[in-house]
Amino acid sequence: MPEDLFGAPRPRHCRKKAARRTLETDLRTVSQRIWDIAQFEDVYRLASILENVPGPRAGRPPAYPPYIYALFLTLRGIHGSARYCAGDLQNPTVWNTLRDGITRHLGPDEARRLPATGPTRHHWQHAQRALLIPRLEQLNETFEDLALAQALRQGLLPAPTRRSWSNPQRHQLIAGDGTVAKSPTLSTTPYSLDPITGEIRRHRVDPASSWQKEGGTDPDDNTNHAVLGSKFVVFSTRHRGYFRRVFLSYRHVPHDHPGGEAAVALDLACAILDAADGCMGVLYDGALRGMHRDVIARRGRLLINKQHKGTKPRYIRTIGVGRCRHELWSNAGRVHERCFLDDGTSTLRPLPVRKLERRSSTHTHRWYHLLTVPCPRGLHEHREAVGVTTTPGERDDGHSDTETGFHRAEHLLQIPDDTAVHQSLYGGREDTEAGFSQFDRSLWNQRMIAFGAEAQSLVVPRLPPRPKRHQRRPLPRRPHLHRRRNRSHRPQQQRPKALTTKH
Ligand SMILES: [Zn+2]
Repeated sequence: MPEDLFGAPRPRHCRKKAARRTLETDLRTVSQRIWDIAQFEDVYRLASILENVPGPRAGRPPAYPPYIYALFLTLRGIHGSARYCAGDLQNPTVWNTLRDGITRHLGPDEARRLPATGPTRHHWQHAQRALLIPRLEQLNETFEDLALAQALRQGLLPAPTRRSWSNPQRHQLIAGDGTVAKSPTLSTTPYSLDPITGEIRRHRVDPASSWQKEGGTDPDDNTNHAVLGSKFVVFSTRHRGYFRRVFLSYRHVPHDHPGGEAAVALDLACAILDAADGCMGVLYDGALRGMHRDVIARRGRLLINKQHKGTKPRYIRTIGVGRCRHELWSNAGRVHERCFLDDGTSTLRPLPVRKLERRSSTHTHRWYHLLTVPCPRGLHEHREAVGVTTTPGERDDGHSDTETGFHRAEHLLQIPDDTAVHQSLYGGREDTEAGFSQFDRSLWNQRMIAFGAEAQSLVVPRLPPRPKRHQRRPLPRRPHLHRRRNRSHRPQQQRPKALTTKH
């Protein structure tokens, strides 16, 4: 039997664990992270779009300049809630850490103009309503630009030089997934009536939350359960190793959105593919199907996901070479040959792929598997298109996939699952869960800390990306920060567990 390009999957017990153990020096403490944020230039770049407030209206000038709220927004990701963040900023030592960063990026005069302590939660809530939410779209766009630039700086999604389409590297791909952030409250109705006392009680309801199935889209995941929350699709990329992930983009998925999570994910993925030439493809779960694979394959990129379990084997064609006849079928995402057995039954045998071909024309791309058909009369070669469902006009009359009724993109994958290449790459999709679990744990009470899709959208982005180890600056010497930093009374917020997961 000739070798298959993608290799046979290795059994679970043979796979070696690539991750190294975390070291004490990998730890980034809360005070170090506050310093990182204060010094991180991209936060000030993000804040620059908040500056041009339209229309000079007479009135009291705001207590804090707009960039303070960009810093607050980023710091809230560390503290887990606006209340703790505002509390911490009342501490002069923490506030001075921020002033150091402001002095570095905006000059000493700007830092001197600031009040003696940071904004309160009241200031923040007003700024969120009046300053940030109206500019959510611009903030998103700027965040995506900055995040992609950061990824490129870290050597992720490198410009196309040498690349192998049949075996892309982890840092040449983006990985996406949907996650449900738990609703801040469990109430689904604004009022309830106490049956005994007759008292009417008010409840705060999150308008963005609905009952969502979690883990329901992956064919191999049997742990689906309903969660009340709002769904977000998030894309990231990373090198193998710790502290290498960069979150690239995210979007809220309204519960009545046409096409659901998959439609939002496809839009986001295509936006990244268009912006990053070095991105070779997308890792996603079974929520993306043939119609989505078709879009990505036509852009000349890979979609690496699992074949949906419900797809049944389909007849493709019979190839005839001399006196030979070989019947080709699609099964489990790749081309199989139907072999007739002595007892009158038949079985499907996968055909080894010798080469994955990518051909481009002016408007579109095509993908082919160069197959080897084993035969007692000698090996045959056959080229079969994969990943794209052709429409009338793209092939000879009557021969396009739409006319023959074969949804090729659904049945034939560019990189079939149940192969060694797929196995090693698909781990990158599963790895996105580690990012989500870290996000959940960063939130107070592990629930969403805002009401409504817009305010929640401000919670999800993670800025700044952690600095690479060799890029870290030495910390200035300073006295140990005050007691509020020691949050041992908040058991959910303890950090040590994070060390065992990848970031
Ligand atoms: Zn033959």
